[in-house]
Amino acid sequence: MSFSKPFQLARREISRNEFRMATLNRPGKIVCIGRNYREHAKEMGNEVPTEPLFFLKPSSSIIADGQPIVLPAQSERVEFEGEIGIVIGSAIKRASESEAERAIGGIVALNDVTARDLQKKDSQWTRAKGFDTFCPIGAVSNGSHDLSNLTVMTRVNGVEKQRASSDEMVFSIGKLLSYVSHVMTLEPGDIVATGTPSGVGPLAVGDIVEIEVVGVSKVSNPVEARA
Ligand code: ZN
Repeated sequence: MSFSKPFQLARREISRNEFRMATLNRPGKIVCIGRNYREHAKEMGNEVPTEPLFFLKPSSSIIADGQPIVLPAQSERVEFEGEIGIVIGSAIKRASESEAERAIGGIVALNDVTARDLQKKDSQWTRAKGFDTFCPIGAVSNGSHDLSNLTVMTRVNGVEKQRASSDEMVFSIGKLLSYVSHVMTLEPGDIVATGTPSGVGPLAVGDIVEIEVVGVSKVSNPVEARA
């Protein structure tokens, strides 16, 4: 795997302010990668995929730092998934890996909250992944970062649950973006969640769950029952 490091920001960078506006106005799409860490695929009883597996999460699921994750009545088991989120800075279509890396506008901490029981029950994941409040996203960092050396970690009530480096990914960030861009155009403000490492687990009312891309972005959210 080769990375241009540190990666060059997209020609048109998106600023924190623009990102805040973009999240308020909702990005066009959130593309999530499944089973991109071997240990997580294993813990879920799945094979490691031979090509990236991806799905969409609706932008209506986005919440910001501090806003509550609301547990829906339809699920008995809602889990956290700490992930590195990539914010697209400039549009890419059928991009090479290096073109895709250059299109990155920023990095965010992201929680791909999942109703695990519904994910197992349904043949596809829209419901399990799509509830309102199921996509907490931290502030965007558009500094210069080494894509192969990002650490993502999850803490629940201060206790570490997940920790992995992006160099443990099955498919690198550049490869993921390139692959997705051969299916759909990635547009400025779109977000690609790059998959969760092992250690996923349930959330309960009263928990505080924090996802951090170390030194880059952080998002912390309380968990509430539906009123
Ligand atoms: Zn995920």
